[in-house]
Order: sequence, then structure tokens, then C-alpha cells
Amino acid sequence: MVAGIDALAGRLRDAIGAERVITDRQELRTYECDGLARFKVVPALVVLAGSAADVAATVQACADARVPFVARGSGTGLSGGALPHADGVLIVTSQMRRIVEIAPSDERAVVEPGVINLHVTRAAAPHGYFYAPDPSSQQICSIGGNVAENSGGAHCLKYGFTTNHVVGAHVVTPDGELVQLGGRAPDAPGYDLLGAFVGSEGTLGITTEVTLRLVRLPETVRTLLAAFETIDQAGAATSAIIGAGVVPAAVEMMDALAIEAAEAAVSCGYPAGAGAVLIVDLDGPDAEVEAQFAQVLTLCAEAFEIRIAAGDAERALFWKGRKSAFAAVGRISPDYIVQDGVIPRTALPEVLHRIGEVSRAHGVRVANVFHAGDGNLHPLVLFDDGVAGEAERAETASGAILDLCIEYGGSITGEHGVGMDKTKHMPRMFTDDDLETMQLVRCAFDPHSLANPGKVFPTPRLCGEVPGRHRGADQHPSQEAGLAEIF
Ligand SMILES: Cc1cc2nc3c(=O)[nH]c(=O)nc-3n(C[C@H](O)[C@H](O)[C@H](O)COP(=O)(O)OP(=O)(O)OC[C@H]3O[C@@H](n4cnc5c(N)ncnc54)[C@H](O)[C@@H]3O)c2cc1C
Repeated sequence: MVAGIDALAGRLRDAIGAERVITDRQELRTYECDGLARFKVVPALVVLAGSAADVAATVQACADARVPFVARGSGTGLSGGALPHADGVLIVTSQMRRIVEIAPSDERAVVEPGVINLHVTRAAAPHGYFYAPDPSSQQICSIGGNVAENSGGAHCLKYGFTTNHVVGAHVVTPDGELVQLGGRAPDAPGYDLLGAFVGSEGTLGITTEVTLRLVRLPETVRTLLAAFETIDQAGAATSAIIGAGVVPAAVEMMDALAIEAAEAAVSCGYPAGAGAVLIVDLDGPDAEVEAQFAQVLTLCAEAFEIRIAAGDAERALFWKGRKSAFAAVGRISPDYIVQDGVIPRTALPEVLHRIGEVSRAHGVRVANVFHAGDGNLHPLVLFDDGVAGEAERAETASGAILDLCIEYGGSITGEHGVGMDKTKHMPRMFTDDDLETMQLVRCAFDPHSLANPGKVFPTPRLCGEVPGRHRGADQHPSQEAGLAEIF
């Protein structure tokens, strides 16, 4: 352990208790990566925070010692956002799992950051409410991670992303101060600092309590599964549904390869021979859902088979294949990259064809699973790390898919964030001026660049540094750790 970290560990043991401070090398290795296991860094020290006071004391100590820190919730992130810093502190919030309050009359839930996403709905359901953003990882991911990533999910098409459901947050700023952003009531006056914080990927501070908006459970939910011979037909049906003014709770699509993987993993029994399936959920008042359901059936006329869920059990079966799709791909390929990009919905058929061309050109298979309703693609690029050159080809194909997303006016990430993984793609989407402007926001919160350095931005510029090409002789901590480059 480096000398500075040794002293920091001593201060933290005194402040928050020795049982919350991990310095043993083997134990530290538990935290060396998040869901993107391609990147691994063992942190210098881990803090298992039990309260906001623990988080504030730890960040304050880091600020005093100029030691970088990284927040971690459940560690399910797929962009390396919670990748530790080799000379820094990893602050784990997964023990902060208290649901502070469920307030149906205000349509609010107040929770600690380590609370699991699905547990909010479980707590709210007896009151007739649910928490709408539902990442496929909702059984394990934390609300703190969701806030940092502005996470989405199948039902965000109708209900909006995490940012639409967070009304307030307690935040420990990078100098260790505990502040409140937003509040219980919507639309606080002044700059929307809460809006800046949601989706900031741990670079503006650590949230220690979040006030969430709850949504009334719908009167009715109806679900259909439509099997098409081609992806074009499924894409056209998606556009037709939205174009007709129907906003389903979810429209999800899987292509033939993704279906093959799901069948192998969970035997979901989707119609044989489908080139693509659509799963459509409609929810709301009975009368509205019935009318719209009839409309959707007509708009899916090109499907060769349509199944209508008879009840909750069959609905769960339809969703089982989709929800297990990422992990299921492990059944048909030893390794794979989960990509995440966005395109305008209407470009779906064309972009999927182009992804097919990318796949053939690079000699790697690509399975497509995605939130079709909002154009959020999740191409799964399959490869075998044991075959020389395949991992590199998969990486190149994966980058080429993101280029396609940009070409069609979309984005390099829909919901998984930039993290460590996509910093290099940021200059393809944003100009230097755009990135400099974002850095100004970051520096206003974190003048010493201690909060999750090396993530999101391609250039780990120090605050106060002259814009333009890097001139400094000193290395930034994330550069020293080999996590980022100064250009
Ligand atoms: C099988 C699978 C399916 C997935 N499906 C989806 C999906 O449908 N939609 C989707 O959006 N994502 C999905 N994800 C990605 C991931 O689950 C989400 O990004 C999730 O929000 C991460 O939560 P976490 O608690 O695991 O965060 P972590 O991975 O621990 O951290 C993620 C980021 O949040 C920061 N962070 C964590 N806690 C805090 C805090 N308290 N304050 C400030 N910053 C913090 C970290 O520094 C890091 O940058 C999926 C992942 C898997 C493995």
C-alpha cells in the first residue's frame, strides 16, 4: 500500500470503523471490475459505507489527501463506470439498503442508494404504486447506480428514463459536503443541478439518498408476442404502432440469433422459424387498452403468428426470453460484447441491415436484442477469445456499429453510459468545444478531478487547465494508472 493510502486508511478506520475499511489485497480483488469484466483494476482501498455520514467522512478524507475515489453500487454496470482507481478509494454503497419512506399520497419513495431497483416496486405495490424505470438487471442493480447512469428499461418508452423519476437527491460533493439537490416537490427554482447530476456517472459526487416518483399501477396490462419472418417486417410494425399515436408501455424486439440463444437458455418457446419477434405491452385504463390492443393487432398484420398472453403467467413467459437475452448469449458463444447505441426508430430496418454487413465484413456474429420502441439497440457481438484475432475483430465491429448509430443521427449510448469503455468514442459524437463545456460543469462540482477520474471524458483534463492541447508536465492520476491518455 502506498504511504498516503496507509495514512488515509488509518484516518478512515478511526472515523467510520475498521470493519468498514478493506485493505487486504485478496479482498480488494473482489471489486476489481463491474459488469464489464474486460477492464480490471484493483483499488488501493475499499470502504463499505453504511450511512451518508460514512460517505461524507470518506470523501472528505479523500479530498484532504487529494486521493481519487469511485462510487460503486451493485457493480452491474456494463461500461466500466465503477472500475476502481489503482491509487484510489472505492466507496461501495450496497449496504445502504434502507427504504426510508413510501409515501403513496405524495407518489414518492425515499430510498438509500444501495436499494435494489425491484425492491422499490415491491415496497410500493401494496399501496397500488410502482417504480417505472425497469432495467433488465432490476433484480440486482441499485438505485444509486441507476441515478448515476440515468438507466432505462423496457417500460421507459412510455414512462421515461430514470431522470424523469428522480425528484430529489442528497449528494456528497467531491469536497465532502452533504447537500440536497431538488426536493420532494417537482421543479425547484434555479439551475437544474439535479438534472446535471442524474446521468453524471459518479463524476459529480455520490448520492446518499434519493427521492423517487412513484406511478400508479395500471388498471390493465395486455401483452402480445408477434413473430415475423423478417426484421424489416418487425421494424415496420414498430414504426406503424408509434406512428398511429399508440404509446405502448414497451415494444421489444429480438432477432433470430437472439431467439436461438434465449431458447437454448430458458426454453421460452417462441414461434419456430421467426426472423424477429416483437413483445408489446399495453397498459392503462381498461377501455383505452382494449381499443389500442385491437389497433396494434391490425398493425402487426404481417406477423405469421401472434400470441396473446392469457394472464400474468403467460406474460412472464413471453418476457422470460427477452429478460434473459444478454446472459443467454453465453449459451451460443464463449465470449461476447454487449453494445448499447441509439438510432431514430424509423431507421431501424436500414441500420439492422447495415449491422448485418458489419457482421459479415468482420467475420463475427451479431445478435440483436433491443428496446425497439425508443430505438435503443443492444447488438451482442459474439466471439471466441480462444481464436486468434477474433476479440480484435469483435471490438472493431462493435466500434463500427457505434459509428453507424452516429451516422444515423443517434448516440453512442442509450442507457449503459460512457464509463471507461466509450471515452474514446466521445470525440466522434462531440466537438472539442462541446467536451470543454462539459468539463466546465464537472470542474464546478469537482475542481480537483477526484470523483471517478478517467471516466466519460477522453481527456482527463485538470480543472483550471488551459483549453486546447494538453501542456502540463505532471501526469493526471488516471493517466498514471494507465486508465486514460492526455492528447
Ligand atoms: C444482465 C444485465 C442487464 C442490464 N440491463 C440494463 C437495462 O435494461 N437498462 C440499463 O440502463 N442498464 C442495464 N444494465 C446495466 C446496469 O445494470 C445499470 O447501468 C445499473 O444502473 C447499474 O447499477 P449498479 O448499482 O450496478 O451500479 P454500478 O455498476 O455499481 O455503478 C455504475 C455507475 O454508477 C456510479 N455510482 C454507483 N453508485 C453511485 C452513487 N451512490 N452515487 C453516484 N454514483 C454512483 C458508479 O461510479 C458507476 O459510474 C444491465 C446490466 C446487466 C448485467
